[in-house]
Amino acid sequence: MTDRLRIALQKKGRLADDSFELLKKCGLRFAIRGGGLLARVKNMPIDLLLVRDDDIPSFVANDAADIGIVGENVLVEEQLVSREGLDAEITMRLGFSRCKLSLAAPNDGDINNTEQLNGTRIATTYPGVLGNFLKERGISAKSVEMKGAVELAPSIGIAESICDLVSSGATLEANGLSAFETILESEAVLIQSGRKLSADKQALLNKLMSRIDGVIKSSETKYIMLNAPKDKVAAITELLPGSDSPTIIPLAGKDKLVALQAVCTENIFWETLEDLKALGARAILVLPIEKMMS
Ligand code: ATP
Ligand code: ZN
Repeated sequence: MTDRLRIALQKKGRLADDSFELLKKCGLRFAIRGGGLLARVKNMPIDLLLVRDDDIPSFVANDAADIGIVGENVLVEEQLVSREGLDAEITMRLGFSRCKLSLAAPNDGDINNTEQLNGTRIATTYPGVLGNFLKERGISAKSVEMKGAVELAPSIGIAESICDLVSSGATLEANGLSAFETILESEAVLIQSGRKLSADKQALLNKLMSRIDGVIKSSETKYIMLNAPKDKVAAITELLPGSDSPTIIPLAGKDKLVALQAVCTENIFWETLEDLKALGARAILVLPIEKMMS
């Protein structure tokens, strides 16, 4: 292995763009061109290994990469199907690419709960996670492994139900299916093996993780500014989601009003703004925070 930190990423697909964006927000400068297996980060000793997501856990386990970004669903599946056990564990949760691995069946069919799966066939690309779930629940069903287009299985008659990834549910709906049980909730995760990294690589990884942490926190965090009647400051502060004590600034020529500014670490919804306004807050601004370090 070189002394450059190597990160395995999905080359193309649902995970890829968000992974690239996260690393760019962390200050890594790189360009992804079609075809290449390795992309070099220009301003840090980091290389990106661009592969299919299913290969990421074993590449990390087998030292082809130091760390990887992959869906938790893929990590768990690879851990379950790997005979010798897979040396890859979650180092950090990343909060994007959230989805669920769910059981679903045709709307107009006989199956609408898990017990009814006994004696039936379930199509899936996740035989490991599905098999484990069925065993735990004491259900005997046959899992039919497919490489893709699982949602078509009931209509072509090779299975009575499916076990597949769902995010909005639109694909299920378009195929006349509905989900009746979630067997795994997933998000993108940073993974690593148990091997010790060199001191330099570990220091770089620590720096990267601290930046990732800042990116995740700042995406949820907002800066709120508003003008408020002095006697309503306490009530307004109560309403601000996840904020410490706000900054209060006097307003020139206005005795009864102050400007209030605060960092809110949780989402600010329209309802909150309406409640603030009802308390007398005016000129309310909610601003994104680009970077954070605490
Ligand atoms: P590859 O060519 O790399 O094998 P793939 O077809 O297996 O790609 P994608 O469909 O790109 O995989 O999905 C990659 C990951 O994105 C999934 O494993 C999952 O963690 C996440 N994901 C988020 N939302 C969804 C969704 N609605 N459907 C499928 N995957 C999703
Ligand atoms: Zn894949």
